Amino acid sequence: MKVIKPGSTIGILGGGQLGRMMTLAGRNMGYRFVTLDPTPDCPCGQVAEQIVASYSDLDAAVKLAKKSDVVTYEFENVDAAVAAGLEEFSYVPQGSELLRTTQNRIREKTTLSSIGVPVAPFEVVRAGEDLQQAIIKLGTPCVVKTATGGYDGKGQWVIREEQQITSVVETLRAFEGDLVVERFIPFHKELSVIAARSTNGEIKTFPVAENIHRENILHQSIVPARISEKTTKEAEGIAVNIAKSMDVVGLIAVEMFLTQEGDLMVNELAPRPHNSGHYTMDACITSQFEQHIRAVCGLPLGDVTLLSPVVMVNILGEHQEAVINKFEQLPITAKLHLYGKAEAKPKRKMGHINFLASNTDKALEQINQLDIWKTEVVL
Ligand code: AMP
Repeated sequence: MKVIKPGSTIGILGGGQLGRMMTLAGRNMGYRFVTLDPTPDCPCGQVAEQIVASYSDLDAAVKLAKKSDVVTYEFENVDAAVAAGLEEFSYVPQGSELLRTTQNRIREKTTLSSIGVPVAPFEVVRAGEDLQQAIIKLGTPCVVKTATGGYDGKGQWVIREEQQITSVVETLRAFEGDLVVERFIPFHKELSVIAARSTNGEIKTFPVAENIHRENILHQSIVPARISEKTTKEAEGIAVNIAKSMDVVGLIAVEMFLTQEGDLMVNELAPRPHNSGHYTMDACITSQFEQHIRAVCGLPLGDVTLLSPVVMVNILGEHQEAVINKFEQLPITAKLHLYGKAEAKPKRKMGHINFLASNTDKALEQINQLDIWKTEVVL
């Protein structure tokens, strides 16, 4: 199997915070980086060579490929033509099959079901088919989601009771793509497991994270998750099964619901480093970013042992100023990461802090005492 040695150049399609943190981890190991991103001085461009061009610019993708010994990506909506161009002119160990699957909720759910992974019951509504009929068939409460393009709760409509059906159907009347209707799961907790699989087939999973969302955006990851040993093992087993059965190379983030009855259901996959794995940067022997590089470069995977309980909190645009003003008040075991984004827009992910403490309750208490995340600050 091909080993990409330190000193080689890694190309990253996409230059956001995930590319930046991947670059920072890889530079420590002696790799060089080049990124393709349309925004000049993007988060990754500040720490790597940057090709400024649109993600769908085939010539720019070929330029990236020719400069790189190996190419990876930091988002899943990679254009099929670009993926093919990259594969022709460079080494892309992750391939494009997994991207194709995870770009589309219908393909993703169907694949998961076929390998025995539990997902919320769902109905597929192809473009032009009867949405109302599918909703009635599945029953309420349910969630209607676009098959492609949704993130952070965008492209989703929750229907809590029958009276809401007509208005959602009306809202989507002119929508031309495929939809999926899935049962609303009144979950007890949301969990995620990030698994890495290297080009030589080795698999490791990071500790399970318990995730708290606010307005559909990740707010906190609590690790260790406050769940039973049995659930922990099951969640890890699901992630390993996915990594193996779907021929993953690199990272796969598996987001799951834990139901009131103690059952797990997979909600979504992301074939890349994930926000819910940022805690690994300071709390694990190996970070998710280093692990991703090890996996795509064919190196042995790093140890994933958790060194300390941790709570990761996201810094959104509305929090950044308060975080900087209160910087001196942060506990000395809190680790700040800012992504170097030019403009602090509301809801935009600007950075995160990993609060390490002797237990997660203490870390949560430290976060509450700062009084930054309680109230929404209007910019
Ligand atoms: P997604 O974009 O699919 O990750 O969904 C974003 C968030 O919406 C999830 O993290 C959940 O909090 C919520 N959500 C999505 N699907 C469901 C569902 N079927 N039942 C309950 N909550 C859901």
